[in-house]
Amino acid sequence: MAENEKVAIVTGGARGIGKEICRELLAMGMTVTAVDLKAELLDKLPGELGNPGAKLQTAVCDVTDSDNFSKLIEDVAEKHGRLDVLVNNAGITRDNIVLQLTDDDWDLVLKVNLKSAFIGTRAAGKIMMRQRSGSIVYMSSYSGLEGNRGQANYAASKAGMLGLMKSTAKELAKRSVRCNAVCPGFIQTDMTDVLPQQAKDMAMEQIPMQRFGKPSDIAKAVAFLASDSSAYITGQTLSVDGGMHT
Ligand code: NDP
Repeated sequence: MAENEKVAIVTGGARGIGKEICRELLAMGMTVTAVDLKAELLDKLPGELGNPGAKLQTAVCDVTDSDNFSKLIEDVAEKHGRLDVLVNNAGITRDNIVLQLTDDDWDLVLKVNLKSAFIGTRAAGKIMMRQRSGSIVYMSSYSGLEGNRGQANYAASKAGMLGLMKSTAKELAKRSVRCNAVCPGFIQTDMTDVLPQQAKDMAMEQIPMQRFGKPSDIAKAVAFLASDSSAYITGQTLSVDGGMHT
């Protein structure tokens, strides 16, 4: 399948890293559906991505809603006749030290970050197994590899994504359906802009390359894993973090 005939779904695609992933996959000629919560952000997306016309579709959907998210994936595959790429990118933080973490903040972060990836994997996996090809990319995190103070819920969700990714990679490999994860370090987006300056300074001290990442740094890694350039790579975790995790 030529890259420009592929069909992709990107969750959390309206802003931040997800938006840059949409831009990158569109540049490869893919037909992309950006999924997100806020219609007003999705409405602005075509203009922000250079008005790609029918190559870009948008859909308001809460990825924790199992029925709606699964149906959305099935509908995209039916409309375009195939589904080649799912990027499980939507994610949130609810940071607190573990001794003060509430049940609600634990449950919410696990649901948005990890359960949604499971729901997406199950729905897309069925389509891709029938098709005998596909690539599922999981947006994990440096925190999922190393843990992070104040992020026990987030780190657990991101580590959980790696377990989900590796198990699914083993189950789906025989039909050339690949699963891989990207672990961003500290990337400049709305998610990190809200951190206090002291936290940003401490983060910078840990980055050997001495700069925060750009959303496009992550998007290029996702594009590689989504494309046939990585045709023999599955079950892998790619750190994109300026050298933090080695
Ligand atoms: P942003 O907060 O900028 O964007 C996340 C997007 O996901 C938002 O548009 C948000 O919608 C959407 N979203 C949240 N919950 C849901 C949901 N239930 N259903 C559908 N969409 C949802 O985050 P980033 O771009 O910074 O992060 C993207 C991914 O990368 C996340 O998984 C994050 O954990 C991961 N990551 C980010 C790092 C960083 O440094 N920025 C580092 C490591 C990993 P809304 O606008 O309504 O909030």
